[in-house]
Amino acid sequence: MFSVQDAEAKILSLTYPLDPERDRQWMSLDEAEGRILAAEVQSALDFPYWDNSAMDGYAVRTTDLTTCSAESPVALEIAMEIPAGYHPPQGIAPGQAARIFTGAMMPPGADAVVIQERTQREGDRVFILERPEPQAWVRAKGDYYRAGAPLLYCGTRLNAPEIAILATAQCTPVAVYRRPAVSLLSTGNELVTPEQTLQSGQIVDSNQPAIAALVRQSGAIAQRLGIIPDERDALKAAILGAIATSDVVISTGGVSVGDYDYVEEILVELGGTLHIQSVAVKPGKPLTVATFPNPDPNNPRSILYFGLPGNPVSALVSFWRFVRPALKKLSGQSRSWGPTFIRAISRLDLKADGKRETYLWGQLVLRSDGTYEFDLAGGSHSSGNLINLANTNGLAVLSCDRPRVEAGEWVLVMQVS
Ligand code: AMP
Ligand code: MG
Repeated sequence: MFSVQDAEAKILSLTYPLDPERDRQWMSLDEAEGRILAAEVQSALDFPYWDNSAMDGYAVRTTDLTTCSAESPVALEIAMEIPAGYHPPQGIAPGQAARIFTGAMMPPGADAVVIQERTQREGDRVFILERPEPQAWVRAKGDYYRAGAPLLYCGTRLNAPEIAILATAQCTPVAVYRRPAVSLLSTGNELVTPEQTLQSGQIVDSNQPAIAALVRQSGAIAQRLGIIPDERDALKAAILGAIATSDVVISTGGVSVGDYDYVEEILVELGGTLHIQSVAVKPGKPLTVATFPNPDPNNPRSILYFGLPGNPVSALVSFWRFVRPALKKLSGQSRSWGPTFIRAISRLDLKADGKRETYLWGQLVLRSDGTYEFDLAGGSHSSGNLINLANTNGLAVLSCDRPRVEAGEWVLVMQVS
């Protein structure tokens, strides 16, 4: 049986990122939101593109103003007005200033801007009331970024700031990794969909819609293959089809020791290599991880198979703890694949048996002093009870070394949203 940490490391070692050449797509910036850059981006442009004013005021030559102050202002001739977006037709000569607005291009000859609040206008002349330093209120060409320097690295996730940067540098379309394809199947003769009429003895498949949501949140495509009965041939055909069309296959159920738990046997029969069969974790002990050779003989990246336990809470906890980091790595994201753990003060006593690393669900609450508190969800923490999972945003971790945490003591909490 693997420890949680060994299982996590093993899974990441089996996971290879998508290929930046083979698996890339070109996207407009509107389409690229949430996607992962598949190449380093450089811009052909300096930024700022040219020297421009950071304020509304007057562009001046500082050498004209070395003696200038509020008590002895210096008068300059206003040679021109430069609104934003306008190319100044000529420079300013000694003794001249240009009326200028925020974002407008500096005229040749000018080396500073005096903000309008520190001036007094009289017809075609302006009185300057302070001595500006060279480059005052000037955003110099290339100050923030020089053409050709790396702007964003391969593996960066594109959120609003990165999209603004790409737009500024006119980097569109942009190369991003395709979304990984993840097939989902639910095993179990007892299962029906949420839409089907529930007959006596049946159970509604809650795993597939929930895991589909988690897969999409991870930036992948969820291919829902539905419910597969616990019959060898049906299961074999479904898994074979899934492997042929996916980067990752996730099944739930059928990986414990019951008479109808065929998943592992079938994986081996289909040529899969079993790497993990159980993990010392609660909930979620019967976790199966296998790999299959890529159906494309020219592609060295294996297909990853996760057989998650059927119990609804176990399936979700296993996804959060083990599958999500793998999907992040697979998607080409450059760092922070693993979960985030936050140190919080537990409001209640927390208990585990000390034999398996135990995850207890609840809420992380930010306190006014900036520290976090963990509020254990009330009700049963059975792996079959998903009702008290509502509003979970953290799982308190009780390691085998520290299986008891008293109210008021700190505990590490894994963030899950
Ligand atoms: P299994 O791992 O197949 O032995 O299933 C363990 C428990 O989880 C059983 O009570 C199943 O009925 C239940 N279960 C299995 N799959 C699902 C599912 N997709 N949605 C909800 N419950 C499930
Ligand atoms: Mg089952």
